[in-house]
Amino acid sequence: MARYTMKFGGTSVGSPEAIAQVVEIVKGFLAEGHELAVVVSAMAGVTDMLLESATAAAARDRAKYLAISDVLRQMHSSVIEGLIDSEADRAAIETEMEELLRSHLELCEAVYILGEVTPRISDALVSFGERLSSRVIAAVMRAGALPARQFDSDAFIVTDNQFGDAEPIWDETEARVAGPLRQELDAGLTPIITGFIGATPDGTITTLGRGGSDYSAAIFAAYLDCDELVIWTDVDGVMTTDPRLDERARVLPYVSYQEIGELAFYGAKVLHPKTVQPIINRGVPLRVRNTFNPDHSGTLVGARTQASATVIKAVTGIRDVSMLTVSGRGMLGVPGIAGRTFLASANAGANILMISQSSSEQSFCFTVVDPLAQAVKSAVETELQREIQHNNVDSVDVLSDIVIITVVGSGMRGTPGVAGRVFSLLGENRINVLAIAQGSSECSISFIIAEEDLEKAVGELHSLALETVENDRINGVGSPY
Ligand code: ADP
Ligand code: ASP
Ligand code: MG
Repeated sequence: MARYTMKFGGTSVGSPEAIAQVVEIVKGFLAEGHELAVVVSAMAGVTDMLLESATAAAARDRAKYLAISDVLRQMHSSVIEGLIDSEADRAAIETEMEELLRSHLELCEAVYILGEVTPRISDALVSFGERLSSRVIAAVMRAGALPARQFDSDAFIVTDNQFGDAEPIWDETEARVAGPLRQELDAGLTPIITGFIGATPDGTITTLGRGGSDYSAAIFAAYLDCDELVIWTDVDGVMTTDPRLDERARVLPYVSYQEIGELAFYGAKVLHPKTVQPIINRGVPLRVRNTFNPDHSGTLVGARTQASATVIKAVTGIRDVSMLTVSGRGMLGVPGIAGRTFLASANAGANILMISQSSSEQSFCFTVVDPLAQAVKSAVETELQREIQHNNVDSVDVLSDIVIITVVGSGMRGTPGVAGRVFSLLGENRINVLAIAQGSSECSISFIIAEEDLEKAVGELHSLALETVENDRINGVGSPY
């Protein structure tokens, strides 16, 4: 018998058919005697719709948010009607659903009156997606005679007040998960918990960032002392690249925590970038599996690095980023310019994705998401005003229409020539590289190219990753466990 936390993503709970499949999976594990905590996302598309309802309310477009509320009702009702036979059970869950829909509309009305959405109200609004899905799914499971009980995760995940991207306060969270929630499992219940949502110590709702249900699930897996965390999604596992970028993408049977960390940070949407943080020290293995193809063993993610005969395992690309370059001959030997630049960027709310400096110290560049580029440029110019006046810094330039490409593979450490191979391949294909950086863990190399070269670059580099998968298969290099 094992204890699992299982997370089902938006597509996995996106329709009555998908939820029926989720119920089958959960039933199968319970029938084998395992203990399960289940974390669920909002139904696919719901989080986007809730954000739209907030924008519409701020713009005083009542018709729009009322229409969104109706779509939400239809989506959840179709699950209730399709999967719950008993009329009394259906009526009970419909009442709960209507209460939530009413609260959502009340918040929209408040935003309508204020004429603006604060990050705090946005988090409260967007939390309705998981509140709705978890209740409906728990009701469907109970209708299927499973011992499911719904929980809102704001009761367990205590966070700071960084709305939209909150960070857990670990000790408090551990105390709430390891004690009370663990008792539910011990009592033979299967908790069905909202992903994505937390609350500040005074109880104000927060969210863990887009795609944050993966992170929630990892927190529960760690503090419930689970034997494995399973992320159920809509692809067979972590792949050599985004299958939407290159249809040749293949599933990687095994990747290390470090590799998945780099992959997720550099744009592989399959996992939230922080997912491994809570489980890495406790060594809880993570498996990524396909809800719609449960016979596939998926990808195992664990602590050990694995020597592949060839090095590059996966390739990612991030669009919608801009590169800022700070340059000036007078920067040579002036200490602190980079530090002040990054602090000014952070104060402008920007998360820096990649940094690269030339050895001559005459320029350095860094990358932020598009919508923040101009604000960061202004903040850095204000910070470096004196240096600009004294001509030590010539300019702060923004370059858009670029992408960050990252190649990942732990074998890079100690394998000479990997970067050489990558860059000669790009050269042969006449792809111009604007900046390069190697991840500190030495298991990734990132570089910036023009957006128009994205598909060609991913295609070429992906061929290297496909070679690795094929060689590993031939050499029998599977999971190191
Ligand atoms: P969920 O709703 O289950 O959380 P997401 O849409 O967030 O699912 O993530 C799964 C998607 O991530 C896949 O459908 C796939 O298109 C995308 N993806 C991007 N990069 C990768 C990759 N390297 N491996 C697998 N999937 C990837
Ligand atoms: N529902 C949230 C989102 O769409 C969280 C998640 O699905 O992981 O971002
Ligand atoms: Mg996701």
